[in-house]
Amino acid sequence: MTATTATAYVNGAFVPVAEAKVSVLDRGFLFADGVYEVVPAYAGKPFAMREHLARLARSLRELKIANPHADAEWTAIAEQLMARNGGGDCMIYLQVTRGAPGKRAHAFPAGTAPTVVGLCNPLPAPSENALRDGVSAITRPDIRWGRCDIKSIALLPNILATQAATEQQCNECILHRDGRVTEGASSNVFAVLGTAVVTPSKGPEILPGVTRDVLLELLRFAKIPVQERRLTLNELRSADEIWLTSSTREVLPVTKLDGDPVGGRKPGPMWKKAYALFQDRKAVSSRA
Ligand code: PLP
Repeated sequence: MTATTATAYVNGAFVPVAEAKVSVLDRGFLFADGVYEVVPAYAGKPFAMREHLARLARSLRELKIANPHADAEWTAIAEQLMARNGGGDCMIYLQVTRGAPGKRAHAFPAGTAPTVVGLCNPLPAPSENALRDGVSAITRPDIRWGRCDIKSIALLPNILATQAATEQQCNECILHRDGRVTEGASSNVFAVLGTAVVTPSKGPEILPGVTRDVLLELLRFAKIPVQERRLTLNELRSADEIWLTSSTREVLPVTKLDGDPVGGRKPGPMWKKAYALFQDRKAVSSRA
């Protein structure tokens, strides 16, 4: 499916992406006043849809934007998007903004319906190279606002961090604040310290990643000790293993941090277990 043949959802209609339009007065365009979700789907079955829709509902609630759809309606939109875009392994993008009122003004507009946009693109599996050798990451100070738990479309600091990583041929930029690791520019961070798997606690500084939560549940079920707590940058630098989790990365091992090797320089034994657990969970979900 190319950009010219792909189908988008815009406010109740399915339209070719090339013809999909929103107003220049849309508050998403003018103020980044909106939220989004990215839901992975394997073999045409959305993965952890309930959790993604719960996070979408929470993001909307925190910004006082009315949720335009019940979960069953969101699911139907996602299914239609997949069906019209070739299905298979794909990522469903859902965005809701505070709508397009008649004029630009900062305060919430009265009586304006939210704008809803949906897209669906192929989801390539992590590359064999990345799984065999791991990926590289850089670190940067976290310059974002105080509500990173909201999946807001205001992503400029994330974009700058990602670009810094890209310019150094790195997969991700890991962010830190006052000596603590927060998360990646578009991922959550795990570190293996001895026998413990550590990931920063949830709170306003990080996005509550759906992949993070799924993986924590799988690790706990497999009796692998996990700690949700403060993770210092120094701990990260001396970690035996570092992993990134996200809906598009799944669970990726980081083997180089700021140019220095991580642990044994190769994806570690704990990552192998975590990756296998995650693949099993994916297989179950795509059969459901
Ligand atoms: N943190 C940030 C800032 C993100 O943008 C993302 C995903 O894009 C994640 C974490 C991982 O979240 P999820 O596992 O729900 O994709």
